[in-house]
Amino acid sequence: MIAVYKTYLKNLGDRNRTYAVCRCSFCSSIFERSYSDVSKTKSCGCQKNKIMDTRVTDNNLYSTHRSMINRCHSKKSNNYVNYGARGISVCDRWAGPDGLENFTRDMGPKSEASLTLDRINNDGNYEPGNCRWAARSIQSVNKRSSGKIKSKGVWFRSGKFVSSIKLNGNPIYIGRFKTEREASNAYLAKRKEIYGF
Ligand SMILES: [Zn+2]
Repeated sequence: MIAVYKTYLKNLGDRNRTYAVCRCSFCSSIFERSYSDVSKTKSCGCQKNKIMDTRVTDNNLYSTHRSMINRCHSKKSNNYVNYGARGISVCDRWAGPDGLENFTRDMGPKSEASLTLDRINNDGNYEPGNCRWAARSIQSVNKRSSGKIKSKGVWFRSGKFVSSIKLNGNPIYIGRFKTEREASNAYLAKRKEIYGF
C-alpha cells in the first residue's frame, strides 16, 4: 500500500500536471507519482517482482473529492437527492480548477484509510471548517437502518429519515423527519400533489 501525503501542481513546460507525494508502506520511502497513476500504484517499486495481493487503500483523496463533487453538483449521482437537491454544495475553493489541491491541503491526509468525509453541521456545505475525517462506524449505523426501510421514497441519512420524489427524472428533496412514517406521509402527500395519486 501507499499513502498520499500531499499533491501539488508540477509545471511540465507546456502544461501543469497534478503530482502526489507518497509514502511506501513496505519500505517507508517517499516517492512521487503523477496523480492519475496513484490508484494503480501499490508500492514505490520495491515490490515490483513480488506478487501483490494487497488492495490499494491509501490516502488517495481523488475519489473522495470526486464523489463529494458528484453528489452535490451532478444530478446523475445516486446520492444527489441527499446532497445537491437539499441545497448542499461544495465551496468554490474545493470545486474550482485547483479544487483537489485545495481540498487536499485543507483537509490533510486521512490518518486511516477507512476514514470518511463528514460534515460537522449536517445542513452545512462542504467547506473548510465544516468538514472532518470521521470513522466509518457512523456510516454503517446509517446503512444498517436504511436496510429496514420499507417506505417508497424514504432514505435514512445522518440520523434522520429523508424523503424525496422524482419529477421529470430529477430528484426533488421533500424534507428530513424523525420517523419513517412522517417521511413516508410527506412523500405520499407530495406524490398526490405532483401526480394526483
Ligand atoms: Zn517501497
